[in-house]
Amino acid sequence: MTTPPEQKVVCPICGYNAGSVNGKEILRQHMQIQHPSVRERALSVHDALASSPLETAISEANSQLAEDKFGDYTLSKGWFFKEKLLGGYDSFKAVDLCWAFPTKVTTKAYAVVTTGVRWDMTLNVRPHKTVKLSHESGGVNDKLPSASVDYALKALSQIIPWAIFGYSNYRAECWGKYHDVFLKVIDERLDVVRAAVNSGMLEAGVDGMLVAKKAVNMPILTYKFRKTDSGKVAGREYQSSTDARETGTTYYRA
Ligand SMILES: [Zn+2]
Repeated sequence: MTTPPEQKVVCPICGYNAGSVNGKEILRQHMQIQHPSVRERALSVHDALASSPLETAISEANSQLAEDKFGDYTLSKGWFFKEKLLGGYDSFKAVDLCWAFPTKVTTKAYAVVTTGVRWDMTLNVRPHKTVKLSHESGGVNDKLPSASVDYALKALSQIIPWAIFGYSNYRAECWGKYHDVFLKVIDERLDVVRAAVNSGMLEAGVDGMLVAKKAVNMPILTYKFRKTDSGKVAGREYQSSTDARETGTTYYRA
C-alpha cells in the first residue's frame, strides 16, 4: 500500500478544503451553508448494493443538487457513471469494482523540473476494465488532488467493502495471470457483505461508515509458493482464505 497522502478534509461537491485541523466539523458547517439541500445521509454500502437500471441511477442523481462524485464519476443506485464528451455515459456497476489503489503522479513543467506530486486513483473493474478517477480531462491537471484521493480511498473502502484496497505485486500478478481466482475472492467477499447487510450484522452510519455489530470474517487473497518435484520454487499459487495460515501449508496474505 502506498503511503497515504496528508490528511485533509475536502468537500466532495465543490472541492473546498476544510483543512486537517478539525476538518470534519468545518466541512459539516460548510455543507450546511453552501450546500443546504444535500441530503444528510452520506453514500453507503446500501447505495453500492442497489440494483437499479442505469437510467434510474442517472435520473436519481440528477434530481439531487448534490452530486456524489469520485473524480468525474458519480455514484448512484449501484452505478458509477460519467457523461461522455460526445454524449452517452461511461458506466460500471459498483458490485463489479474489485481492486482499487492510489497512484502517485509527478507532474513536470519542463523535462527535468518537478513541479508537484498529484495522485490518481486506479479502479480495476471486472472483467478487465481499468478506470482512472480523474477530474475531467486535460493534461497533468486531470489528476486528483491528494485530499480527494484520501477521501475516495476512505469512502470507497466503506461503501464498497468487498473490493480489495491497496497495491501489491502479488495482487497485480493475480489480477493479470490468475484473474478467475481474484474474481472468486471478490465474489466470496460480496456474498459475505450482502449476507451481513441483509441480516443487520453490518450497518452504515449517517456518515456512510460501516458499523459491524459482530466481527465479519472477510475472505482475503492469499498465496503460497508452488514447488517442482526437485523442490525449486516454480511460481506462486493464489487462493481465497478466511485465514492467511492454512493448516499444513503456509499461505501468505497477497
Ligand atoms: Zn462545498
